[in-house]
Amino acid sequence: MTPHDPVSKIAAAIPPDIQELCQRFQDAGHQAWVVGGAVRDVLLGRPHGDWDLASSARPEQVQACFRNVIPTGVEHGTVTVLWKGEPVEVTTFRGERGHTDGRRPDEVFFCDNITDDLSRRDFTVNALAFDPLSKQLEDPFDGQGDLQRQQIRAVREPLERFLEDGLRSMRAVRFSATLQFAIEPRTLSAIPKALEVFQKVARERVRDEFLKTLTAPKPSTALDVLRTTGMLAHICPELLQSVGCAQNSHHAHDVWNHMLHCLDVAEPTPVQRLTALLHDVAKPVTRERSDKTGDYSFYGHEKVGAGTARRWMRAYRFPNDLTDEVTHLVRHHLVAYQSLWTDAAVRRWMHRVGTEHTHALLEFARADTRAKGVPVQEDLALLDELQSRVQRELDSGTAFTLKQLAINGRDLMAELGWPPGRHIGEALQSLLEHVLDHPGDNERATLLDLANRQRNSP
Ligand code: ATP
Ligand code: MG
Repeated sequence: MTPHDPVSKIAAAIPPDIQELCQRFQDAGHQAWVVGGAVRDVLLGRPHGDWDLASSARPEQVQACFRNVIPTGVEHGTVTVLWKGEPVEVTTFRGERGHTDGRRPDEVFFCDNITDDLSRRDFTVNALAFDPLSKQLEDPFDGQGDLQRQQIRAVREPLERFLEDGLRSMRAVRFSATLQFAIEPRTLSAIPKALEVFQKVARERVRDEFLKTLTAPKPSTALDVLRTTGMLAHICPELLQSVGCAQNSHHAHDVWNHMLHCLDVAEPTPVQRLTALLHDVAKPVTRERSDKTGDYSFYGHEKVGAGTARRWMRAYRFPNDLTDEVTHLVRHHLVAYQSLWTDAAVRRWMHRVGTEHTHALLEFARADTRAKGVPVQEDLALLDELQSRVQRELDSGTAFTLKQLAINGRDLMAELGWPPGRHIGEALQSLLEHVLDHPGDNERATLLDLANRQRNSP
């Protein structure tokens, strides 16, 4: 055997703790196989997450064998064993029968061999199992061949599998994005025929797979698959309007293709990728031909788009802080910086977008600029310039928020004897505006004096 053969490769990758755990199962008279993503990723030489086990032991038998067992999903045969301080998911060999709702199997039944268990799994590259004790690799559907061919292929009959569980269509796209594999043609052509079932899947489940798709190395290919299979019409129909929506002289691509390029060049974080996906979502509905230039303009698309982004992210129950951040970036993604901006103009921009967002905004603006498909060296240099001016302002300790002013409302009441009321907030706001123009005035005595004078001026 060469050191590169699959069996030695997996055997060498399995941590001693997992090996010992499998031994404990065997000592108790059960089988335990390492399954799914870990085996696949080791064969691909990719970093991988958890070591999941499939076992002949029933959940109650696992609970009897180990002291620390969490009943994670006993009705589906899954428990979590806390082994040497680490959680390991153990699922009893099982099959599924009947999927009348396209979501959950009507019946889950336990079976007694790994091959039957592998046959209920979604894709051949995920239907691999390894027994670390006998060093046996179980691969009944030629998952290794598909790893070599770099393709996602359904286990058994694609259409049947997609009709059983609507999420699998989305998972096919997700794995093709994260592994950068193609979807095998028969598997791909089954997806449009299973759309009715895909529609029934809970949005949270679609969201989780979609987010993994978006944060993959090059999501554009996956987005095109979502569009051509008809899935995108259910996930986010607003985005479809951008297909073929021509732009203006600043852009080489239509809105859709610009968005795809932007996705690929944006940093692979949820915030940046979701912003890339949604930043121009309202361009099609705001497009107008300008009388002046004869070219298209998209006046207000960032405002309308922020509304669309918020509604869509809420519908998919993204976490609130992520929704707020993405919506805010969409709202302010147009950075119209020019070198002739005064320092005060830079500070006003920072105040408007919030100093905690400037970094993310500039990062996104770079991706947005690079995705235009026209020469952008100058635009990128301008963004670098703005970045360093922003940094200089941050380092200087200037006030950008009411909190950072040298005085607060209590000072106005205590020192100047002002009664409480709305005028306190208004005065502080106007002092902040003043300080943005004159940062040197952010001192207690100066601000109190200014407040006094402003109040007494007619
Ligand atoms: P990742 O590294 O992204 O976690 P994974 O392969 O471990 O990839 P999971 O979603 O964690 O993916 O699922 C674990 C295993 O369970 C899969 O490898 C697959 O064999 C099986 N599986 C998960 N979801 C489904 C499904 N909807 N239908 C069929 N099999 C599934
Ligand atoms: Mg996993």
